[in-house]
Amino acid sequence: MTNLRPSPDTTCAICGKAGSVRIVDTYKSIWHDCAECGCYSRTQKNHYPHEATARVLRSMLGGVPKLGGFLKSLARKEQGVDFYRYYSDQLTSPDRGPWEGQSDMVTAELRREGLLDGWQGKRVLEISGEPGYFAFDLMQAGADVLVSAFADDVARAMTDHLKLKTFTYDFNADDITSKVETHGGVEPYDFIFIRFSIGFCLDVPTLMRKLSPLLKDGGLLYISFSPASRAVLLRWMFDDYTYLRQYTEEHLNTFATKAGMALQARFDEGFFHWDQGPFSLHWSLRPVARTYFKDSSYFSEASEDDKVQRRVALVYVKA
Ligand SMILES: [Zn+2]
Repeated sequence: MTNLRPSPDTTCAICGKAGSVRIVDTYKSIWHDCAECGCYSRTQKNHYPHEATARVLRSMLGGVPKLGGFLKSLARKEQGVDFYRYYSDQLTSPDRGPWEGQSDMVTAELRREGLLDGWQGKRVLEISGEPGYFAFDLMQAGADVLVSAFADDVARAMTDHLKLKTFTYDFNADDITSKVETHGGVEPYDFIFIRFSIGFCLDVPTLMRKLSPLLKDGGLLYISFSPASRAVLLRWMFDDYTYLRQYTEEHLNTFATKAGMALQARFDEGFFHWDQGPFSLHWSLRPVARTYFKDSSYFSEASEDDKVQRRVALVYVKA
């Protein structure tokens, strides 16, 4: 049950402040909501409420369509997923699914602000660019592109099927400077993209400090993300490996500025309500999620802004 009062002896993992953190309970995760910095940090629970029941029922009824998916969401996700196979199947499919149209949208955004003439000859680094369509499109348009993936078999699938230059990179274990020097050389970049993955990075100040020297003077760092919102806690409560952090625009702006980059443009890419519409939870999971919503005024009395997940892109220029 979510306690509405800040925990006196809990410290924010992001800003380090003690006594400003509210501890929020969701199905698979505990979130820390910090009143000081406005950001959230997440830990995965050791035990999920209906995990044991879901496991037993899955062994009996898992073959029933829809019910199997519902029970799977309540249970713990199995390890050992064959990512190479999953991404190879996706990358050889004619249907790009949810990744359709992304390069067109970003290209249009940048052109509208006069930040792009064309991709021909541009040096582009994309961090965590799975499954690779965005990098592929820019490469097709003439850019020299280097892209990272978290898992080595995914990077391999991207190279095999899209002929991309790839490397493996973990925000929290690897040094981006040495990775890029090894795989892309020392010449700085015109663009660095981090699209909807900054929530996996535990240390934004260090990342910003390392990215700034990788950009040319006048080069652009483009970060798209969902600014911190309670809706994210509700929408993704059945995901085992969702974002570790939720940042505010202010947090990213502060540390980009400290690293020598200035905010040049901001793009509003829309929003969706946590329990309505095509981007919401699967309908079968909504009743379970609504119990968390109703049980605590933390959720039920949240502002309308906190009931939606927004998408925003921030573009910084290297000064
Ligand atoms: Zn904080």
